[in-house]
Formats: sequence, C-alpha cells, structure tokens
Amino acid sequence: MYTYYIGIGSNLGDREGYLAFAVSELTNIDGVCSVNHSSWIETPPWGPVEQGPFLNGILKVESTLEPLVMLDTILHIERLAGRQREIHWGPRTLDLDIVWVEDEAGQCVRVEISNLVVPHPYFWERQFVLEPLQEVYPTFTYEGVSIASRLEKFRELES
Ligand code: ADP
Ligand code: MG
Repeated sequence: MYTYYIGIGSNLGDREGYLAFAVSELTNIDGVCSVNHSSWIETPPWGPVEQGPFLNGILKVESTLEPLVMLDTILHIERLAGRQREIHWGPRTLDLDIVWVEDEAGQCVRVEISNLVVPHPYFWERQFVLEPLQEVYPTFTYEGVSIASRLEKFRELES
C-alpha cells in the first residue's frame, strides 16, 4: 500500500467541477482504497503564459497501484477532463501531479525515470502545493524542515 499526495489544479472552464470530477474518477479506480483532499485554494497564475487564476489542492490517496500505474491513471483522468497539451505551462482544465509518495512504513518513495520524477522536483518551492499539503499532512517534514516553518518563510517574504 502506498500513500500518494497528488497536486491538483485547474484554471479553465468549470474549475471546481473538474476537481470534483478527478476525485470521483480516482475513487472508482480498482486499487484505489481512499481519496481525501484538502480544501481548494485560489492561486494567481505564474510563469510566462498569461492566464486565469488556478484552483489548487492536494489529494491524499491510499492505493496499491505502483507509481507508474498511478501516473498512467492520472494522465488518463486528465485526458477524460479534456486536457489539451498545446501550450507548455498554459491554461489547463485539469492538472494532476504526483508530489510525494510514502510506502507502508512511512518512508519516502523515490522514482527518477524519464516520465516520472518523485518527489516532484519543485514541490518545496511552491506555496500553492505546500499550503494544501499542510492541511492533509500537518506533520510533514522535508530534509529536516517542518512544513509549518517552511510556510512561515513564505509568509515572511510576503509581508
Ligand atoms: P506540468 O505539470 O509540469 O505543467 P504536465 O502536466 O504537462 O506538466 O506533465 C508533463 C509530464 O510530466 C507528464 O506526461 C509526466 O510524464 C511527467 N511527469 C514527471 N514527473 C511527474 C510527476 N511527479 N507527476 C506527474 N507527472 C510527471
Ligand atoms: Mg502535470
């Protein structure tokens, strides 16, 4: 059994509807035992492409699926939600990224192959990932730093 923390986002069309769709599709997959999620937060867009604000969150998924099978599963759900890959980092109906995975012993699972890198390379730099991650995993620590103190840093920079 694995525990997956999956970043979810949408900034096109019925954003809340797409997030709810992803939760319901995942819940119905064989090998997925439970799906819980953070609240959804509105996040300004970032990067080089002009686009609308995102609705972001984190899904906590208990599953027997191996990481590569989970990747195929979430990419399939993105396609079902009409995800087009026209502009890199452009607007999307649904984006699902595997952020962090733990095995049954609570150990971090690492994957580094061409189509899957876990932990997600930028997760620790992204407030819109860490805010909802803290909600579903308040005791999370990374390289000896608690998620609470990491988020405190972001807030200090804002003020
Ligand atoms: P991004 O999320 O960076 O905007 P995409 O959603 O278009 O980019 O994903 C592009 C590819 O990233 C996927 O086809 C997938 O193979 C790859 N990928 C690598 N690591 C991960 C991960 N941890 N979670 C999801 N996709 C990943
Ligand atoms: Mg993605």
